[in-house]
Amino acid sequence: MTTRAAGPRRRRIVAGNWKMHFLAAEAAGFCRELRRGLPQGGQGGPGGSGGEPPAVELPTPAAARVEVVLFPSFPLLPAVAAALAGSEVTLGAQDLHPADRGAHTGDVSGPQILDAGCRWVLCGHSERRRDHGESDELIARKVAAAGRHGLAPLLCVGETREQREAGETLAVLERQLRSGLSSLPPPSSAAGERVGLVIAYEPVWAIGTGLTASPETAQEVHEFLRAAAAGLAGGDAAVSLLYGGSVTPANAAGLIAQPDVDGFLVGGASLDPRQFLAIIACSG
Ligand code: PEP
Repeated sequence: MTTRAAGPRRRRIVAGNWKMHFLAAEAAGFCRELRRGLPQGGQGGPGGSGGEPPAVELPTPAAARVEVVLFPSFPLLPAVAAALAGSEVTLGAQDLHPADRGAHTGDVSGPQILDAGCRWVLCGHSERRRDHGESDELIARKVAAAGRHGLAPLLCVGETREQREAGETLAVLERQLRSGLSSLPPPSSAAGERVGLVIAYEPVWAIGTGLTASPETAQEVHEFLRAAAAGLAGGDAAVSLLYGGSVTPANAAGLIAQPDVDGFLVGGASLDPRQFLAIIACSG
């Protein structure tokens, strides 16, 4: 009888993208409430954290399987890292510069965000593509920089409303994915092993608009992305596919029920610990 070596697995992940919201004290307060609502205060395993009652009762142990990640803006990182200390909630940055150091005023490097306690970094978010004109080529260099430093890049891809209406959705996604993955370290490298591959499908028309892709649309796209990513990164690469775009506690259950939806990247609803916890609760 042959036994398969345990390879990287698909992970359940719920990530909060705080964008340019919160001051340090508000962020720390959010983390306290989040930890009260997570199984064992976010330290893993079933059971409550004791002390004050949780904001939301989580169905355990399912919710304990969900990896929770927060993406605060740069100045909040020390406060959030301190507030999350000892928990399993991990920290990510919203951006990084492709270079390791140098004359790049206003930018932040991979080593700096790693030093601030980050394990993740967002690459290719549509608001950076829009506000800062980030090209596929620049995003690929950011993904490469993340991989070089052992940071997990959370690569965001998504089509605009115009592209969807023109029937270009899959071609746009394929282009963004191919470019974004072009410079990732091979899965056999230390960073690749640890990180796996995490991609967020974020239709631009759904971000911050209250419009959400239907579960069927999300599934159709995720199925396409899974096949495309396997072709680009190697068939045995474990790809976790998150959906993002106006996710709320009301629509999360229908989306996570789809076979190729592995979790969420949440914007607006991640600013309210009760809503964020409710999304985590139904994602286990
Ligand atoms: C996002 O910015 O990644 C996002 C998904 O935002 P929202 O949930 O607010 O649409």
